[in-house]
Amino acid sequence: MTPAPPSAEPVRGSYPAGRIGQRMRRAAGPRIVVALDYPSADAALAMARRIDPARCRVKVGMELFTAAGPAVLEALHGLGFDVFLDLKFHDIPNTVAGACRAAAAHGVWMANVHAGGGRRMMEAARDAADGGGGKRPLVVAVTVLTSMDRDDLAETGTGAALPGRVRALARLAGECGLDGVVCSAADLGGLRGIFDAFGPGFLRVTPGIRLAGDAGDQRRVATPGDAIRAGASHIVVGRPVTGAPDPIAALDAIERAVSTGGG
Ligand code: C5P
Repeated sequence: MTPAPPSAEPVRGSYPAGRIGQRMRRAAGPRIVVALDYPSADAALAMARRIDPARCRVKVGMELFTAAGPAVLEALHGLGFDVFLDLKFHDIPNTVAGACRAAAAHGVWMANVHAGGGRRMMEAARDAADGGGGKRPLVVAVTVLTSMDRDDLAETGTGAALPGRVRALARLAGECGLDGVVCSAADLGGLRGIFDAFGPGFLRVTPGIRLAGDAGDQRRVATPGDAIRAGASHIVVGRPVTGAPDPIAALDAIERAVSTGGG
């Protein structure tokens, strides 16, 4: 029988000194991140007011940030939420560093970059996030988007099969001192050895979560329970909550699955 993966649950307690301890402290708390993919601040805040910052974090992605700007971050902080600013920076190192400094100045909990931007870009992102003083944002790297399958990847001409590319990008993110990766739950098994090398606090953030039924544009999906059992530290859930007839009931079901690892 394959041994169960070590628990990736970020727990409150005593932490080792230094960067890993700081990462673990920042990561502890709710493991569900609700993606507020809305076209306006009003719509996003209406949903945010229905959910509880003690039970979930929220994610602001490119649609909402482009429409509403940094004011929406301030409003969500005002409601007590930790905010994952999901803008997936991917540019030259100097530009990404500037963007990470701006994200740190907004006081966000987590920000991300595309690991495909390479070593120098990720190191610049890490240094910029560290340089802000105060609470630095956790910085995680997107490996291969959960909306992309093997055929989508092959068409981009990257030359590596999907699992190999995910492994290479995850290893590079860890070597660059980032706090973790964003990947599909299906990728987590193959990354176990890599995660072990980067310490217990290395974050595994998994989008592409579906309770059942229509995956929409996502290709590599998993249930909340599958993702937790595979070793996710945090799960990102958008439409299964925001598009549900009863978003709070959907969030309750997801929370149960996360806490029991069932479902
Ligand atoms: O609605 P759904 O649950 O598919 O939303 C997933 C969210 O996670 C979206 O906001 C999407 O931009 C984001 N995301 C993703 N795959 C990644 C990184 C982020 O789906 N690799």
